[in-house]
Parts: sequence; structure tokens; C-alpha cells
Amino acid sequence: MGAWALLLPLLLAAAQAWGCSVNQTVFEIEENTVLSGPLVDIQVPEGQTVTLGPLSTPHAFRIQGNQLFLNVTPDYEDTTMLLADLQCRRGDTVVTQLNVFVTVLDVNDNPPVFPFEVKRKEVPEDTKVNTIVIPQEELAATDLDQSDILFYTLQEVTPGAGSVFSLVGTNFPALRLDQPLDFDRSQNMTLLLRVRDTPEENTVPSHSATATLVLEVQPADLRPPWFLPCLYSDPHVCIQAQYHGAIPTGHKLPAPLILRPGPIYAVDGDRGINQRIIYSILQGNVDGTFVINADSGNLTMARSVPSPKTFLLLVKGEQEDRARYSVTRVTVEARAAAGSLPRFPESLYRGTVPLGSGVGVTVKDAADPSQPLRIQAQDPEFPDLNSAITYRVTNNSNFRMDGEAVLTAAPLVQAGVFYAEVQANNTVTWGTATTTLQIQVSEQEPPPTGTTLKPPALSTPGGPSSVGTSTSPSSASSSGGSQQTSKPGSSGAGGGAGDQRFSAAEMGALGGVLGALLLLALLALAFLVHKHYGPRLRCCASKALEPQPCGFDNKAFLPDDREPSWSPAPSPSPGPGPGPGPGPGGAPAEVPPAPAVPSPPTPPLPAPPASPSPPSPGQAPESSSAARDEGGPAGVRSILTKERRPEGGYKAVWFGGTVGAEADVVVLNAPVSDADGAGDSGSNTGSDSGGDSGGEGSGEGSGDEGADAGPGWGPRADAPGTDSTYI
Ligand code: CA
Ligand code: CA
Ligand code: CA
Repeated sequence: MGAWALLLPLLLAAAQAWGCSVNQTVFEIEENTVLSGPLVDIQVPEGQTVTLGPLSTPHAFRIQGNQLFLNVTPDYEDTTMLLADLQCRRGDTVVTQLNVFVTVLDVNDNPPVFPFEVKRKEVPEDTKVNTIVIPQEELAATDLDQSDILFYTLQEVTPGAGSVFSLVGTNFPALRLDQPLDFDRSQNMTLLLRVRDTPEENTVPSHSATATLVLEVQPADLRPPWFLPCLYSDPHVCIQAQYHGAIPTGHKLPAPLILRPGPIYAVDGDRGINQRIIYSILQGNVDGTFVINADSGNLTMARSVPSPKTFLLLVKGEQEDRARYSVTRVTVEARAAAGSLPRFPESLYRGTVPLGSGVGVTVKDAADPSQPLRIQAQDPEFPDLNSAITYRVTNNSNFRMDGEAVLTAAPLVQAGVFYAEVQANNTVTWGTATTTLQIQVSEQEPPPTGTTLKPPALSTPGGPSSVGTSTSPSSASSSGGSQQTSKPGSSGAGGGAGDQRFSAAEMGALGGVLGALLLLALLALAFLVHKHYGPRLRCCASKALEPQPCGFDNKAFLPDDREPSWSPAPSPSPGPGPGPGPGPGGAPAEVPPAPAVPSPPTPPLPAPPASPSPPSPGQAPESSSAARDEGGPAGVRSILTKERRPEGGYKAVWFGGTVGAEADVVVLNAPVSDADGAGDSGSNTGSDSGGDSGGEGSGEGSGDEGADAGPGWGPRADAPGTDSTYI
């Protein structure tokens, strides 16, 4: 441009001197401008004519009279510069040549354009956060206006999708993953990608375009199989079911065992993949008593069980591709039973199911449609469940029984109330019972009645210990204790499905009442003990350094016993397993309130290990083995206290029989040196678990502990040991 500015005066001067001239040779015109008049007037000397020379931009100009007109509407995207080559001639001779330049200025007159209307992209569910899901090159729009900068925004169509994906930058339209994907929650996410060729929307001119992005989540194998029903579940976690059943001894059941809470059944936690599950028994199948169907999970008997015992089966559910598995526990109790008739506690069971349900839909409890309807016959000899009792619907082909649950057996196309007879059949005794089933097939899903806080309420009994879905055998078995203790309550509810629905406040109130009763009982006990044996207790306490005088000594605490693990450990804090004993500084002879008496039956009274003369044959070997396992004196540890009295002796108290029944008080005397170590060294661990297991029925309890703690707690010896003196 600078050159032109210099040349212009010279050219004008020359033109005026010899021929044609214009007063402006360079123009700037915005594209799309339509000029109503001439571009420029041409001064043509007499005798000369002006024409457009061959260098002119074709068709861009015309000369009319002595005026130069723009012949076209300029388009920057087509031509950025137009040239008019003016030639003035005298006759055939070119006298002057003039160039008129028209610079076309760009205007934002083109919208941005996406190379697609809808882009679909498959995104694996296990894509890491911050991954670029769609690169910028695939998403960028184009705009013919070369100077335009494009601004992109993302707008969610699927609710929540806007927080899962984002653009890397306003001017950098790469799609990035911001949150972990969850196939079960969202399998398809649609977003609108909008582009604008101005930073502000209200700029004029401004153009925009929109395209659709559809992200299709592809399920990944993230979850193991889940044994159903989950006590609690969300898309990532299932607190898995454990199963239990009970069978009569001496019979091999012909049909698969009826179990609670239902048949052994696992599904792939990744519902989008839904791998087939293969079942197997990992452990606990003593004598090959049971067979599990690898495909169905049905548990059947291969042989009868001769005598009462409890089987703890660890059952594995594994994906067909063997990539993931889970383990759960199946408890089967074999009970001696004479064989009684099954009996339905209700004469009519009411269920409900939505109209239009297909085959295999679970009929819900009409009283609580959030729960499946359960038809449970009772057997007086099996307080909770008799796995030999099977069920069938006898007279209605629309429904069938699946264990204790009712399923649809045909598509339900007609609304109304249906009745069916359900027959319970004891496959061992051939005793039967019938009841009536009333099922409401209704238009809509019946509204839930009441407030059923399902996850929180149900998550309590299973406990967090079984959260880890791929559990190791030990963790699977360790979680069983809590499960078992919840059983009596549920059976006592009379087959109600809402057995676990107590609020925290209700449980707290119950605990408070029980605690108060317990405290009263303990006070009474303490009073009795004090009244009857106070003098003797004082005797022992005052003569702590004389081992034998009162006859209450336990040899396990004598100094010549092996004591390396007892003598050190001055720390008053309990060892690895926090025992139920009182806190540090608690008076040793006092009975601590809560933990000692949670279970009405007799807590175990461990036989003293040092006894060389077994009082009851058959108990002694176990007792001594327990003593070995526990490092000697463990076998006589009290469930109550190990605190050392300042004088050196201490007492421990066991309860015999149920609470409120007679109490055995054992007063243990030991010299200072022994008692010193006796206060801790983790000895409480054993007594703790012993106390827990003792709360159960003896058969079941021993089974419970059999997996690991069993050997140590074999000595649930009822007979008092010889070395403890019971008052
Ligand atoms: Ca544009
Ligand atoms: Ca343009
Ligand atoms: Ca899986």
C-alpha cells in the first residue's frame, strides 16, 4: 500500500498529461456490497476511448459512458481482489493504461458447519476419567470466513450427561470424560454440541450450528457375580445373600433343598454383560453329602446325614469366562426329627402382581408390595425352616412356586383377583398341607405402602463384613455369626417379610430395656453373692499372697505354670481381640454390665486346662487341646474380667444357666507376679468368641465356630473343671 501511495501522484500526473485518469485507483469494499452508482469516474481526453484491458478480472467490471462500474457483488470467499485494467486508446494505439484495484473485505457471512449431524460413539464403561472420548479433529466445525474464531459449548439432552462429559476448551472441541461411567445408570447419553463464530451471542452478524453427540456406554466387567437377594445394593455394591436350610437326619431329600432367603442364585453384577454363572462348592461338603448343580445352583443331597450336625458350605459363583467370582456361605443344619406334618400358619395368603407381567415375575406381598410374597409352611420339629418341604400350585397355571416364592407362569393379560391352592409337601414324610393364595392382578404397580427404608433396614443384619463381594473363605465364614443371630427374630415374625424393619430408635429402646433388666439382675446377683459369700471373698482378697488357704484357687494361675506369655505385658489394655471385660481400672470383682450377658443360655464355662483328671470323659481331650491352643491358662479365662487387684489376687465370675438362674462365682487367687501378666496378653479374645457362640444352640453354635475358631472352642465344657471351685 505504501508503494501505491507513492506512485499514485506520479500516475495521476502522467495520466493528466497524456491521457485518461481517475482520482482513485484503490478501493476497499466489504463483500456482498451492492454499489448503486459507479465505482469511479474516468477522465478521458478528447479523441481517446477507454476500454477494459485483458488483465481485468473477468466479468467484474463494466464501463458505461466514462464511468467504471462494479459488475458483480463481491464475495471475499470467492475473490479477495478485483482488478480493472483501463486502457485509453487513440485509434488503435494505447495511450494510457490504468489499474483500478478493488480490495474485497471479509464479512462474517458464513455459518460454521459441522462435518456431521449426529455422531455416535461407543465408550467402554471402564474408561478412565479425563480420557478424551472424541478427539478434536472429529468434532471441529468449519467456517468459510477465514478470520472467524469458533466457540463451542456443550448442552446436555440426557439429564446429567453434562456433568459426565465436557469439552477440553471453548475453542478446542475435544470431548473429555469427567466422571466414571455406569452402565446400569445410564447406557446412552445425548449431548448437543453447539458452535458459534463469535464470542458473544448477541454480536451481529453471528452464526451458530448444532450437532448431536450420542455416547453409548459399553458395559465392562467391573463387578463379580452377586448372590441374590442383595441385602443392600446399588449399582456398584451388593451385600450378598447367605443361605440356610435345615434337613432331617437319616433321609436323602429327593428334591433340591428349599433354602432361605431363597434358592442359591447369583447374577453377574454387570447386568449389561450378564455372564452365565457357574456354581460349585468350595469347602465344607463333608462326606460329599451335597451336590450343587453347576448351572442352576440347586443344592441337592447325594446321601443322607446320619446324625445331627451343621454343614457350612462355601459356595462359589463364577462367571463363565472365569474372570470374576464370589463366594457365599450356605448353612445346612441336619436335625433329628420324627417326622411331623407341615402346617400353614395362614389359611389365606394375599399377593399382588402388575397386569401385563410376563413369565417369571415375582408376586409381591399385598401387605407390603416392596417385598416378595412368601408362602412358608411350618414344621413343629423345625423351628425355622424345613428344607424338605416343597411347594407347588395345584390348580392355577398362571402361577407357580419357586421355593417359597410365587412366580407368574404365564403372561398376565387379564386384571382381577385370582385364587390358587398351594400345597406344601414334605418330601420325606409325605405329609402335605394346603393353603389358599389370592393374587390381585392390577392395572398399575400397586403403590408402596408405608415407608420401607429398604437399603438401610436390610443392610444391618448382613453387616459390612460381607461387602467385599469376592470374599475369601475366612471372611465369608466370619460374617456368619451376625447373620445367624438375626434368625430367631425373623422366624418369630411369623413368616412376615418385614421382619427386619425396626427403626434405630426402636432398637435403642429395646436395648435400653434389656440393659435395665440386666442391670437389675446383676445387682441382685451381686447382693446374693455378697450376702452369702462375702466373708470368704474377703478372706481370699486379704490373703492374696498365700495361694491355697481358701480353696478357691485355679492351678492355671499358679506361678509354676508356664507363664512366659502372661508374666510380661504390663499394659492394661486388652489384646488383639477386645474382650468383654471392663475397661482399665474397673474393679475386678464387679460384674460388668452389658457385654457379659447378651445371650440367655449358659456362656461357656471353659474347663481348666491344667487338670490331669478329666471329670467327664469325652470332654477332657477337647479341654486340653483348647488349653494348648490358647497357651495354657486361656482355657479358664473369664468372659468378664482380668483386672488385677492391688493385692495380687483377682476374681472372675461366670454365669451358669440363663440370666437370673443360679450364678457360679469363681474366685481365682494368684500371687502378684502371676496376676500381673494375667490381666492382658490378648487372652480376652477367646473368651469373647466363646461367649458369643455359646449363645446359640449347641449344634449350630459349634458349627458356626467350626470353620476357624472351632478347635479352640471345642471346650464348651458344661462340666466344671476340677481346678476351679464353684460356689
Ligand atoms: Ca462465519
Ligand atoms: Ca465471509
Ligand atoms: Ca462381571
